Amino acid sequence: MSLLALMYHRARAGPQGNAPAMLDAHFAHIAGRYTCALPGEPLDPRRLNICLTFDDAYFDFYAVVFPLLEKHNLRALLAVPPVVVREEVAAPACDRLTQESDVNHNHPNYGGFCTWPELRELAQSGRVAIAAHGFTHCPLDREGVDLHAEIVVPQALLAARLGHAVQSFVFPYGRFSPVALERVRGHYRHAFRIGGADNSGWDRQPLYRIDADGLAAPDAPFTAARRTTYRARHFWNRLRGR
Ligand SMILES: [Zn+2]
Repeated sequence: MSLLALMYHRARAGPQGNAPAMLDAHFAHIAGRYTCALPGEPLDPRRLNICLTFDDAYFDFYAVVFPLLEKHNLRALLAVPPVVVREEVAAPACDRLTQESDVNHNHPNYGGFCTWPELRELAQSGRVAIAAHGFTHCPLDREGVDLHAEIVVPQALLAARLGHAVQSFVFPYGRFSPVALERVRGHYRHAFRIGGADNSGWDRQPLYRIDADGLAAPDAPFTAARRTTYRARHFWNRLRGR
C-alpha cells in the first residue's frame, strides 16, 4: 500500500506555494488518477493514495484552494495554529491574499489567515478536515516549550469553535522531541511530520509528508523517479530511527 501525504502552504507562486493555475492542473492530475483520502479513511491497495495537507490556514486556502477542491471533488486536511485566527478582519480580500507569509505571521490582525467563521464553513463542508498545528506555531523540540498549551489546548479549542472532533496534529516545521511525540500520540489518532518519504498506510505515527510547494509541473511529485526516492527515503528514515 502506498500513501503519499503532500504538504502545501500558499496558493501563490513561489517557494512557499503554487500559483492557482498550477494547483488547478495539479488537482486535475490527482483527481483523474489517484485515491484522495482524509486521515483514517480506507485506502485502495490497487492505486496510489494521496492525502492533501495545507499548513497554517492562510486566507488563500479559503479563497482559492477550497473552490479548486470543490471543482475537482477532492478533500484536504487544513493545519491550523489557533493563535493566528480572528473572529473577523477589516482588510479587503485582495490585501489578505497578497501579503507575504512572514508579515501574516507577525501581524495576524492584518487578515492573512482564515477567520473563525471561514474555518467553520470549511469544516462543515465535509471537504476539509481540521488538524491542530500547535497553538502558537512554535517548534515542539524547543527547550521549555509548554506542551500542554501547544498540543492539548488547540485540540479542545478547535473542536469547540468548529463543532468537529480534531484527530490529527501537524508538527510546526515538522519538528518535535520524543516527549512531544508521546504527548501527541496520547491525544490524536494521526500525526504528521515532513521527511520527504511515502507511507505504507495510516499506522505510522508521525506520517511522512512530501513538500509539494513550488511545483515545476502538475505531475512533478508522482514521476517514477520521485516515487522511488520517496520509497528509499522511507526505509532510510526508518533505519536511522526517524
Ligand atoms: Zn506551519
